[in-house]
Amino acid sequence: MATPERYAKIRRVLSQRQPTLSVLMDEVNKPHNFSAILRTCDAVGVLEAHAVPPKHGGSLPTYEATSGSAHKWVGVQTHPDAVSAVKAMQARGFQVLATHLSEQSVDYRVPDYTRPTCVLLGAEKWGVSGEAAAAADANIVIPMMGMVQSLNVSVAAATILFEAQRQRLSAGMYARPQLGEEALERLAFEWAYP
Ligand code: SAM
Repeated sequence: MATPERYAKIRRVLSQRQPTLSVLMDEVNKPHNFSAILRTCDAVGVLEAHAVPPKHGGSLPTYEATSGSAHKWVGVQTHPDAVSAVKAMQARGFQVLATHLSEQSVDYRVPDYTRPTCVLLGAEKWGVSGEAAAAADANIVIPMMGMVQSLNVSVAAATILFEAQRQRLSAGMYARPQLGEEALERLAFEWAYP
């Protein structure tokens, strides 16, 4: 039984959820990375994340100790492969920003994250595939000035998602519910009585 305070907290969190902000994890295979990304998704208000499960390993690699229970509050929709997932998100009106170094890459702070946006994150070992990066609307990078070429994927996800949060905060997008009242109440009930 959820207390009135708990129900009020759930409603407050849901009223700040951003159904138009998401990530697509392409074969992110380490449970601590996958779970840390979900935890950041929860923190910035992602309602639903997307993932292509690792080919070798089968199911989604959640890890409760790292997610801090975020997997309960951020749904994950799976897709068979990255290119079809990119196209599915674009068909839903999202711009897909692939974290990928290419000639066309722009600094991750350049895009307008107040638009419906999905950030495509690559596998730890091989990154975003060339095909998925080409299918995306833009390629973004976090500038690197050290000896190491790339960041840990969950660190990159957090850096980019908090830039999205910064832009959305200044646009007032957390101040008014993005979910309709019916959806918000249905989810509040599901979260309160799982
Ligand atoms: N060897 C891989 C490559 O060449 O792409 C490295 C992959 S990196 C460890 C894993 C993922 O973290 C990348 O696919 C990307 O999603 C993200 N990432 C790491 N460093 C990044 C950066 N500087 N800018 C944007 N994304 C980054």
